[in-house]
Amino acid sequence: KMSGETEKAMEKLQKSGHLVLVMFPFQGHITPMLQLAAILHSQGFSITIVHPEVNSPNPSNHPEFTFIPIPDKLTESEISDRDLANFALRVNNNCAAPFQECMKRIMHQKDSHDHISSILYDTFMYCAQTVADDLSLPGISVRTSVAASLLLYPVLPHLDRKDSFSANEVPEFQSLQLQQNRALLSQNSTDAVTEVRVAFTNGVKSSSAIIVNTMDFLEQAVLSKIKEYFPAPIFTVGPFHKLAQTICSSLRTEDANCISWLNKQAPKSVIYVSFGSLASIDEQELIETAWGLADSKQPFLWVVRPGLIRGSEWIESLPNGLQESVGERGYISKWVPQKEVLAHAAVGGFWSHCGWNSTIESICEGVPMLCKPFFGDQFLNSNYICQVWKIGLKLQDTFERGNIEAAIKRLMVDMEGEEMRKNAMDLKEKAELRLSQGGSSWSSLNEFTKQILL
Ligand code: UDP
Repeated sequence: KMSGETEKAMEKLQKSGHLVLVMFPFQGHITPMLQLAAILHSQGFSITIVHPEVNSPNPSNHPEFTFIPIPDKLTESEISDRDLANFALRVNNNCAAPFQECMKRIMHQKDSHDHISSILYDTFMYCAQTVADDLSLPGISVRTSVAASLLLYPVLPHLDRKDSFSANEVPEFQSLQLQQNRALLSQNSTDAVTEVRVAFTNGVKSSSAIIVNTMDFLEQAVLSKIKEYFPAPIFTVGPFHKLAQTICSSLRTEDANCISWLNKQAPKSVIYVSFGSLASIDEQELIETAWGLADSKQPFLWVVRPGLIRGSEWIESLPNGLQESVGERGYISKWVPQKEVLAHAAVGGFWSHCGWNSTIESICEGVPMLCKPFFGDQFLNSNYICQVWKIGLKLQDTFERGNIEAAIKRLMVDMEGEEMRKNAMDLKEKAELRLSQGGSSWSSLNEFTKQILL
């Protein structure tokens, strides 16, 4: 006989029904979406993941989800196009019709016990909101980045003028330099950028709920401001990676040997360096980085993913003398298990491009950061890190070996770095509280589940 608990769980499972999650095909978006899928699955929902064919996740790593690839019709050259707005525009334009077809098929197949409750889509897959509206299903926007990035769009020109506000209204906004960020983004505005921004914002405005991979205490003032601009309730359920710890989402093979190398290093001595899955540098910047790391005399673990260096396969342009100067003190890898690296006792600092996943992973392990943002919301994240949370410092100016050496020493050796490490540990503790039973991320998740079940 089933226990009362099991009976309740079964009942819940039947009532919860079925969620469709729609992915945007970049590593930094796929990972949080899979994590969210796991979180919702553990709440009793059955999960179908619809994704463009490019950068497909490996379904055999996630037997509990149903994966449906949809044709994106992208050519090789379109896939390697470094213009992200063009890429987002093409993916949405090409996937809208196949996604609609796919939804009709799913709805047709399923019996009434397994009705589709909602479509949850990455904010950059805004075509899914249009399909949801068309099928009279609730569309839920999932922002995989910092919540503040939702505000950059309403303050941009070309949108409804009623929407603009002064960034000086809230002190936190001054530190975030939203105005400068806006200027920075506007400088590079192409028609594609404008179109994506408008569609992105309209998607969020029409959605029934917004989920953000953040924690309330990280962005309190910003979250209240967002509520003025978007009518849907906002749920801060982050950090997803801590609520769904076992998800394996790397599109590349992870190098486990780096952990054996870390095991041999002194506590908090290693600077970990990674610029994520999209940013790129040129050969000269590679060489300056290498000498900066060598001259700092700190042990370093450096991710050079194939594709990081424009015009090179990998690290063939590094000078021979470098190896002699560094010896066993440096480890270069193509891709590492980053969360494990950040949690390792030997890691004392993270030189990052400030992608949101990297930022929140670093916060959760109490690791202070050296910031070198490349594009988009990485500038916002870097301002949060250095100006608002004070858990890191900016690498000023260009990639130059003297600059790099000095910045690494400030972070890893000087008193200044000690202060940032203390602040980072405070944030880690706060994050742990949010994540414990009854903490804000849990209650936000429960409220969200209730809303879907209504
Ligand atoms: N990552 C990893 N191994 C690496 C480098 C990065 O697993 O060697 C992961 C990292 O943990 C993060 C993601 O790749 O989850 C990068 O996402 P982020 O938002 O930081 O940057 P993006 O790649 O989107 O620019």
